[in-house]
Amino acid sequence: MIKEIQAKVLLSSARRPDPWFGIKYTMNLYRGCQHQCIYCDSRSECYQIENFADILIKANAIDLLRKELARKRIKGTIGAGSMNDPYMPLEARVNLTGRALSIIAEFRFPVHVITKSALVLRDLDTLREISREYAAVSFTVTTADDALGKKLEPGASLVSERFRAMQVLASNGVLTGVTMMPILPFIEDTQENITQIVTRAHECGAAYILPAFGMTLRDRQRAYYYDKLDELFPGLRRKYKERFGERYSASALDANKLDKLFHEWCARYGIATRMPMYAPAMGTQMRLL
Ligand code: SF4
Repeated sequence: MIKEIQAKVLLSSARRPDPWFGIKYTMNLYRGCQHQCIYCDSRSECYQIENFADILIKANAIDLLRKELARKRIKGTIGAGSMNDPYMPLEARVNLTGRALSIIAEFRFPVHVITKSALVLRDLDTLREISREYAAVSFTVTTADDALGKKLEPGASLVSERFRAMQVLASNGVLTGVTMMPILPFIEDTQENITQIVTRAHECGAAYILPAFGMTLRDRQRAYYYDKLDELFPGLRRKYKERFGERYSASALDANKLDKLFHEWCARYGIATRMPMYAPAMGTQMRLL
C-alpha cells in the first residue's frame, strides 16, 4: 500500500552531530521502504512502523523543509537514508528527495545521503552544487556479488549498478564512499567478500568505507530475517540460534580478522575508514538568506 500523509515536523535535530556521519539533522521523507532488505533494522518495534511494506509519502515535506531550514541558526549536515532509502523506486515518480535537495542547495546546507540506488544520479547536478558546501553520498554495499545482493536486498539496485553510480559521482567531484554494513554472519563474512568490496570501491573512486562486521537482531527484525533465512538459506536459522541466542548483536565470524584485513586493504588503496565530515568554520552562525 502506498499513501500520502501530512507530517507535523520533518527534520529531527541531534544535540551533537553523530560520530559516524556527522549528522545534525535527520530527514525522512518517507516511512517504509520498497527495497525490503531482509535484514532491515527499521522493522524493529521501537520504530513503530506497523507494516514496513507500506510506504507513506510525507506529502507536505517540501513545504516543511523550507520553513524549518529558514528557522535554523546552526548549520549542520542533513542526513537522508537512515530509516528508509531516499531513492527507493517510488522516488523516480514522486521526486521528493530531488526537490528536497534543491531546497537544501538553496539554503546552502551540507547533506549526507545513504542509498542503495543508482537513481541518485538523477540529482547529480544538485549534489554538485551542494558539494560547494558539503555533500557526501554513501552507497551501502554488503556483498560484491549481484546474485546474492538480489536475494538480500531485493528492491534495491544491483550492487554493480551502485558501484557504477559511485564512479560517476566521484568523477564529477562529489564525495562518495561505502557503508559496508551489515556484514551478515555465515553469509557475507568471508575474506573474499571483504577484499572484493574494497577493491571495487577503490576502482570506482570511493574516498571512504565504513564497516560493521556483524548485524543487529531485534524482535520483529529478527523474526522477519529468520523467516527469510528459512526461504533463502535453509538450515541457517538453527546456526544463528545456536550462536547468538536472543542477543541483540550478532557479530561476523572471525570479525577481528576481517577487520584487520579490511584495514590493510584500505591502507593499500588509500581509502579512509572514517567519514570525512562537514567542518563548519568555528562558531558558524547561519547567514540570514
Ligand atoms: S534500503 Fe535501508 S531502509 Fe530500505 S529496506 Fe534496505 S536497509 Fe531498510
